[in-house]
Amino acid sequence: MKIICIGRNYSDHAKELNNPVPKEPVFFMKPDIALLKDNEPFYFPDFTNEIHYECELVVRIDKVGKHISEKFASKYYSKIGLGIDFTARDLQQKCKEKGLPWEIAKAFENSAPLSSIWLDKEDIDLNNISFSLQKNNETVQIGHSQDMIFNIDIIIAYLSRFMTLKTGDLIFTGTPAGVGPIQIGDRLRGFIGEQKMFDFEIK
Ligand code: ZN
Repeated sequence: MKIICIGRNYSDHAKELNNPVPKEPVFFMKPDIALLKDNEPFYFPDFTNEIHYECELVVRIDKVGKHISEKFASKYYSKIGLGIDFTARDLQQKCKEKGLPWEIAKAFENSAPLSSIWLDKEDIDLNNISFSLQKNNETVQIGHSQDMIFNIDIIIAYLSRFMTLKTGDLIFTGTPAGVGPIQIGDRLRGFIGEQKMFDFEIK
């Protein structure tokens, strides 16, 4: 199982981090041990002083495919979840300055909290999904799938040119604006529409 994350997929977020808006999807990967499930707490690690939340819609692949055309991409997934792409922003900034890979800032243990709840794509309008993140009862991120630069089908078509997508693979589809730091004691709650998807604490 692999976890593929799309970077800079919402122009307002690309702008808030002073990144150019990409012409092709930008992607990176996390290992399976990045997953944090069942609302388990996240323990703030000792190698960073600045972890940001990035709340993202997540697509679960449920059919093996490569060189998938955009037209048929919707046949390769049926469920939408919600997750967080935790990012050690201080370490990522150093990587960016030196032109180094991002794994140290993105691929660490438990850096990918994921909802245990999945919504059937048949029950939602993929082009009109609203999602949000609350930190300690305050809404800090609001996203709309229609603001994605690259939609889910384009992402699947693009990724499958480079690697076979397999059943169980997860695609984190990028974060809207509003990313910010977490601290020990914070509580993060994610929603798709009114549906609470995850609810966990930082310890
Ligand atoms: Zn992200």
